[in-house]
Formats: sequence, C-alpha cells, structure tokens
Amino acid sequence: MPELPEVEVVVRQLDAAVRGRRLGALRVLHPDVFLATAGLRPADVAGKTVTVVRRRAKLVVLDLSGGLLLTVHLRMTGRLWLAAAADPLPEHTHCCLGVGRGRELRFRDPRRFGRWHLLRAGELAELPFVRRLGPEPFDLARDALAERLSWRTGSLKGALLDQSLVAGLGNIYVDEILFRAGLHPRLVANRLRPQELDRLHESMLAVLDAAIEAGGSTIRDYLPLTGTPGRFQRSHQVFGRGGASCRVCGRTIRKLRVAGRGTHFCPGCQPARRRRPRPRGARAC
Ligand SMILES: [Zn+2]
Repeated sequence: MPELPEVEVVVRQLDAAVRGRRLGALRVLHPDVFLATAGLRPADVAGKTVTVVRRRAKLVVLDLSGGLLLTVHLRMTGRLWLAAAADPLPEHTHCCLGVGRGRELRFRDPRRFGRWHLLRAGELAELPFVRRLGPEPFDLARDALAERLSWRTGSLKGALLDQSLVAGLGNIYVDEILFRAGLHPRLVANRLRPQELDRLHESMLAVLDAAIEAGGSTIRDYLPLTGTPGRFQRSHQVFGRGGASCRVCGRTIRKLRVAGRGTHFCPGCQPARRRRPRPRGARAC
C-alpha cells in the first residue's frame, strides 16, 4: 500500500506534467470509484485549469480553477499514469481525464478500493477522514511530536501508525524509522527519554526524505506516474527482511506482531528496554 513517500513521488511527477494545463473530459468507467459532492458532476471538470498538484497524507489533490478540487486516493492497488488518449485501455481502468495535447491521466485499480472525489475548495478539510488527520511529518516539530506521544500509553509502533497522531506513515516506514532510531516497536509511546525523542524525530524526517529521493518503495503494486519502479526497497533495513542478518550488527532480523501488524526489527539495534535495577538495599514490596 502506498505510504507518504510513494504518494509524494506521484504528486511531484503529476505536478510537473499537468500544472497549468487545461483539462478535457473526465470519463468515469466504473461508478463505484468516483464520488462527487452534491451538485457536481464529472462534466464540471472540462475546461478547468490545474493550478497545482499537492499531497495531504496519502491523498493526491489537484487544485483546479473555478474553486474545484479533484482528489485521488490510491489505497491498495490504485495506479495513475499518463497515456496517449488513443492508447488501448488496460483492464481495470476506471477513470480517464483529458490533460491536453492528446494525453490522458488514467487510473487503474484491480481491487477498486481507490477513489476519485470531485469537491469544492474548502470541503476537503471538512471530510470526516481528513478532519481526523494529524499533522504532516514535515510540519511536525520535535517538541510537538513529543507532546502528541505524551498522551499515548500503547506501543510506539501503534502510535506512529495512527493517522491522527501524524499523517501518512504506514507499516513499512514506521518499521524503518524505528530501526534508524534504535527504538523497539513495543516501547510504551509516552515513556521515551529526551534523547530517544530526538532520534525518533530525526529518523522520521531522514527516512521519509531518503525514500522520496529513491522514488518510494516498489514491493507489490506501487509504481510512480512514470512507471519506473521505486528503489527504496533495496535500502530497507528491516521491513520484509525477517530471518536475514542485520546490516549493522549481524543479528537476525525478527518479526513480531505489534499493534495488529507484522513488525520487523533488529533485537541488537533495537533492544527492549531493560528494567531499571532496584537500588541496593531497597526492600521488595
Ligand atoms: Zn542490528
């Protein structure tokens, strides 16, 4: 499932390709995939200009002239690409949007969990799932992250997966961030020490930056707009490496279930916290 870096790569490529373009027809080939707020129809997109393509959490957002927004949620298997309008349509193509010069932005999604949504500017922030989203990682200062974690008594992994704490992280990047920070995924989220919070914040930004730079992680279905697979999966230290040797310490990467998700970590680099030894002479009670 694409996470923040993969969606960011798609957004940057799409912005470079269609910003300033006047849109043609939007064809919706499967009605389940397309949502519109009251009074809007696919035909309203024709003739509008794309002012910018941006990202909110895992959502691709096209800002259009005339106060309209078109959002694309890729979910599990959704994929966007640009094609000549005359090219044949592959199976499971559900939306085609004319973007000028005889080209179309196309959307294919075999599992059909992905969604296109046409709405008015201002309505996006009011959508229930968008209202619940926490800040973007790149907008979240170290102390704000610490404050948000201070309320969480569950596992650190579970807290970071919660989109209301920080938006856009998923199973791959939380595992990679925790490895880089040297933090065990089952640490209690509000028990981090100041230095551990420093490392967590630094690692979150560094891992996401490196992943975007490498075009994201292509594991199953994800491909950027250009169709060239991402390369960051080659740099994964723990995710998908259960049973392999840690590239840093040589210990065997282990797999656990944390927060209901398969979780990879290195027991050498991410030790469980030791109980503080009881001071000598203290009485057991
Ligand atoms: Zn290790």
